[in-house]
Amino acid sequence: MDQKNPHLSTPTAARNFGFFVDGQWRDGTERFERASPGHGTPVTRTVRCTVEDLNAAVAAARLAFEDRRWSGLSGAARAGVLLRVAEILRRRRDEIAYWEVLENGKPISQARGEIDHCIACFEVGAGAARMLHGDSFNSLGDDLFGMVLHEPIGVVGLITPWNFPFLILCERVPFILASGCTMVVKPSEVTSATTLLLAEVLAEAGLPAGVYNVVTGSGRVIGQALSEHPDVDMLSFTGSTAVGRSCVHAAADSNFKKLGLELGGKNPIIVFSDADLEDAADGAAFGISFNTGQCCVSSSRLIVERSVAADFEKLLAEKMAKIRVGDPLDEATQVGAITTEAQNATILDYIARGKAAGARLLAGGGPIDLGRGQYIAPTLFSGVSRDMPIARDEIFGPVLCSMHFDTVEEAIQLANDTVYGLAASVWTKNIDKALTVSRRVRAGRFWVNTIMAGGPEMPLGGFKQSGWGREAGMYGVEEYTQVKSVHVEIGKRTHWIA
Ligand code: NAD
Repeated sequence: MDQKNPHLSTPTAARNFGFFVDGQWRDGTERFERASPGHGTPVTRTVRCTVEDLNAAVAAARLAFEDRRWSGLSGAARAGVLLRVAEILRRRRDEIAYWEVLENGKPISQARGEIDHCIACFEVGAGAARMLHGDSFNSLGDDLFGMVLHEPIGVVGLITPWNFPFLILCERVPFILASGCTMVVKPSEVTSATTLLLAEVLAEAGLPAGVYNVVTGSGRVIGQALSEHPDVDMLSFTGSTAVGRSCVHAAADSNFKKLGLELGGKNPIIVFSDADLEDAADGAAFGISFNTGQCCVSSSRLIVERSVAADFEKLLAEKMAKIRVGDPLDEATQVGAITTEAQNATILDYIARGKAAGARLLAGGGPIDLGRGQYIAPTLFSGVSRDMPIARDEIFGPVLCSMHFDTVEEAIQLANDTVYGLAASVWTKNIDKALTVSRRVRAGRFWVNTIMAGGPEMPLGGFKQSGWGREAGMYGVEEYTQVKSVHVEIGKRTHWIA
């Protein structure tokens, strides 16, 4: 144990967590044990909840919604709670980052940066709580006035993945709370700790009991039951496209609950010959290696102009070889561990398939042995054709495939040649090319001469099979509302019956 900073060494024993319903911690009979993917030692034990536990959580969220203990407060009062959450997160930043690292395997410096982003999410959510408003129609004639109200949609189910357990949570929770909704959260079974820690933070900030409930357990049992639950008004699901599809079926077969879906991506990064190639290579290396490529918006398809392709790939391969892959608790580490053994095997299998298909390996290409944990070197393939599985499938790992183009049209066509539409970036100093490509590539998030930049003011979400709806910003809050038109007669009614 590091005596100066306990948040820089693994814990001596796994920590037990309960689950959180109606403002109370509860325990269960069965638990999942989670080992740190970077170290192999047990770090947490969370409850394998039952469907009865889930039903109790939905009932608590329903009661808290119906009695208006939260939605009945003013926007200013809700904002006050959200701002207190931001303050508490500032105080507990290092501790929350630590548990995120232990369960997920991401580098500690990155995790702290993510908590800063989460603090910003609560601050923006506080602003949104005060600014949420509807519309009015003063154009319906002298005897009719129209108002459009945003009302909270009700009880929200929130299902989150393991790649950014706290960040994805915090890109949604403040906006759900800003709208006046209550919720039941089901985090990934391998990364539940920080979702549970948020329950402590919200309670300390003064959030009424029953508004935020957390039920831990498997996706197959608890996730499925939440998506089918007849008393849940909306489900916000972030995860794979395959499970997203099962949520659509579950909603259709239960109560037609509204769905927000944030799913997979196979995101293009387009580099023109007139770009600052040093900047673009740095962006491409970051875009594929950040969070070990286990990132829905990873730039996993490099689409580079043929005239500079060979030089650019050489530059990029040199940069990728310098990335510091290592122990997630080491302050100097840039890329940490692969989060699950299954994901590790999937990534290595795709690398083998890329080699077998004849793609040329320019960087990485296999595991890194650090004596414990599971690590993969940032990998670059050239000579990739668009029909290879490494070019089509979301690998969700640090594997970048390079393809070449000659014209702007060809670059756009290649970028759009995917079932996904989550994110994209373009690197060029030519404003016409930058604007043409950003308008024609079908993706929910677009970056020009940068990558993964942004804040919670801006909406997040995907085109095509990357999902439905938007999270964050005012667009995000509105997703958690129902829109009601109110018509008001002014003066004496003109009678229908003479
Ligand atoms: P996953 O779909 O396997 O699991 C996501 C969540 O769904 C987990 O909490 C899991 O327990 C739960 N789940 C599993 N089966 C379920 C079922 N039948 N019904 C309901 N819930 C169920 O995804 P993952 O492996 O945790 O995460 C990786 C995937 O998430 C990638 O495809 C990635 O692109 C996607 N992702 C998307 C975004 C985005 O914003 N678009 C962000 C992060 C991750």
